[in-house]
Amino acid sequence: MRIESGDSSILSPLFYFIFLRIMQKPKHQYFREQLMAWFAQSHRPLPWKGEKDPYIIWLSEIILQQTRVEQGLPYFERFRQRYPEVQQLAEAPQDEVMKLWEGLGYYSRARNLHAAAQYITGELDGRFPDTYEGILRLKGVGPYTAAAIASFAFGLPYAVLDGNVFRVLSRFFGIHTPVDTTTGKKAFAQLAQELLDTKQPGNYNQAIMDFGATHCTPQSPACSTCPLRSACMALGEGQVGKLPIKSKKIKKRQRFFHYLVIGHQGKALLNKRTEKDIWQNLYEFPLLELPHLSRDEGEIRESQLWKQLVGAEEAVVSHISPPYQQLLTHQKIVASFWEVSLSPQAALNSGPFLAVDRKNLSTFAFPKIISQYLNQEQLTLF
Ligand code: SF4
Repeated sequence: MRIESGDSSILSPLFYFIFLRIMQKPKHQYFREQLMAWFAQSHRPLPWKGEKDPYIIWLSEIILQQTRVEQGLPYFERFRQRYPEVQQLAEAPQDEVMKLWEGLGYYSRARNLHAAAQYITGELDGRFPDTYEGILRLKGVGPYTAAAIASFAFGLPYAVLDGNVFRVLSRFFGIHTPVDTTTGKKAFAQLAQELLDTKQPGNYNQAIMDFGATHCTPQSPACSTCPLRSACMALGEGQVGKLPIKSKKIKKRQRFFHYLVIGHQGKALLNKRTEKDIWQNLYEFPLLELPHLSRDEGEIRESQLWKQLVGAEEAVVSHISPPYQQLLTHQKIVASFWEVSLSPQAALNSGPFLAVDRKNLSTFAFPKIISQYLNQEQLTLF
């Protein structure tokens, strides 16, 4: 269809003007300008916004990886208050850092944060790296976090690329290449970098992150009030709900944990998880992992763990908790807690486990599933 200037029977002058502007202007420029105009009006006030201290920005970025802002906010405040400078974080005992992180999940982030703080104080004289490559060398920092810190703290021109950005770009530009393939990642990274406003990379990165998090959201994007709607390919083609495309579905492995909560003379047994597995450096009760969820007391009593800890002592299973569940990225954990009372005269063989006073249990950092159990069940056996 050819549109003549002034053909008001088809288009209003204002719409026609906008239409022409969009057609004449490169789409990249249109995207960038609309996004920045939206950001100027709609940005969220968050405590780390406008922050220039790379250490504080780094803290906030690590806490926000895989975490909603509302959930991460109190953790950020706690860390900033307890460790206002990288030196203090580096000198803190690891158990203290893990305890402060308790409940936030993805605990490797806390371990890496601590290790990187020690690297900065030990190897870099306490100076936070000020180049993209230097930031990328910190443990636990990937390209996304390095780009965010480099642009926010140092105004360096590196575009962020995360789930929010994949979603916004794939929808606006109508890209059907799966975002989790090598080709997809490369193409999106290139596009993200082309779109970056190099005069104000920090603001641009913040704008696209906020836009994806609050406006072009996964389930209910606000298309009707979207400043990009006139040129959004997904909206025009009715593909909003289909984009972005992922090629693989993550299949979760199920694991069945049976915890022996053995109370004896006011003490409980704990284990520190040190193996290369989930929840490294967190604490737990003695664990029996089976290929299924067992409610069979005979099976538990037959286990090596029971024999090692309880042996021939007189012991009563006083309570078996209902199953608790925790979903991790690649695993589903189902745990039941077996509360075991020993007679006061029994000699508890704690073996490699720590015998901890009941009243001190709350000072240890536990995985979420154990904290939930401790909060919900009445532990009466101590
Ligand atoms: S119109 Fe809808 S899908 Fe397109 S960018 Fe805006 S919010 Fe996202």
